[in-house]
Amino acid sequence: MNHTQKLILATNNRNKVAELNHLLGDAFEILTLKDIGFDEEIQETGATLHENAQIKSSLIFDRYGLPTLSDDSGLFVAALDGAPGVFSARYAGPNASDQENIDLLLQSLKGKEHRSASFKTVLSFQINRTQHFFEGAVHGTILESPRGTFGFGYDPVFMPLGGERSFAEMDKEAKNQWSHRSIALSDFIQWFKNQHFKY
Ligand code: IMP
Repeated sequence: MNHTQKLILATNNRNKVAELNHLLGDAFEILTLKDIGFDEEIQETGATLHENAQIKSSLIFDRYGLPTLSDDSGLFVAALDGAPGVFSARYAGPNASDQENIDLLLQSLKGKEHRSASFKTVLSFQINRTQHFFEGAVHGTILESPRGTFGFGYDPVFMPLGGERSFAEMDKEAKNQWSHRSIALSDFIQWFKNQHFKY
């Protein structure tokens, strides 16, 4: 098997690496930011998921010259005009915990009947100076109170449309059947497998 084709996944999140590895098979060597010795914090200053994803992939591509995939995700709540959106990780403050973010979200939705929301992911892939974007979204509602202990972020308060369990009541495999990230990643994989890149 040829392991010389390298792809940087601009993350240090082991779950994301494992997921991509699993989907791509072993034809590519996937490198994390840690693997390439990149330990700076990338400022996500974009106003959209697209901008933030692009900031990460282009910075790493410019620095290392290897094909780079990055992602940015968020929760968009209709009754809050799309908040927390790009600010999902720091909704309740710069170093907010998942619990603090959930508490603020439930507080902000108190008394509101309309609780529909979507998780969205944008992937940005940069290769040979060209950017390619892939998107995934899952629609659902915000529960009145948290349910379940799996997952991370807003999983305990998100119920996907047509589902009977919150994201935090699903194990990893069950959540992957629904998740915005899986949808975007599958789209990328399908496209990627049909490309014949020259490195
Ligand atoms: P990231 O861009 O994947 O780091 O996601 C940014 C933030 O969005 C996370 O810190 C979470 O608060 C939220 N988020 C993104 N995806 C999910 C998910 O699948 N479940 C719960 N929260 C998520």
